[in-house]
Amino acid sequence: MNTTTTHPTEEVLVECALDKGNEVQLEHIKQCPQCRDYVEEIRSVYKDISSIDEEPVPERLAAKILAISRSKRPQNFVWNFLQTWYKNPFLIGIVTVGAILLLYGLMHLCMQ
Ligand SMILES: [Zn+2]
Repeated sequence: MNTTTTHPTEEVLVECALDKGNEVQLEHIKQCPQCRDYVEEIRSVYKDISSIDEEPVPERLAAKILAISRSKRPQNFVWNFLQTWYKNPFLIGIVTVGAILLLYGLMHLCMQ
């Protein structure tokens, strides 16, 4: 059988972890240790979430799992930070103060 060297995208791997992948994708995961490890990791995160949350699986769970599994990876720290900084009240404060100071500075320059 012809094995492809292209790995499925993270979105596809999440779907496979939730048993929604197609045959080709599932076959690749069976044969590719790298993707298999990733799918196992997603499944363990999924189990953690299911044990916390007894409710039926929400529609956006795949996205949530993807976000969690991404945040576990150090190389995605910067990207993760960019996506989540606005949820941190402390950082919002700093950005707000920075914006006010910048505006004040600009106004001061224009007044001269
Ligand atoms: Zn792979």
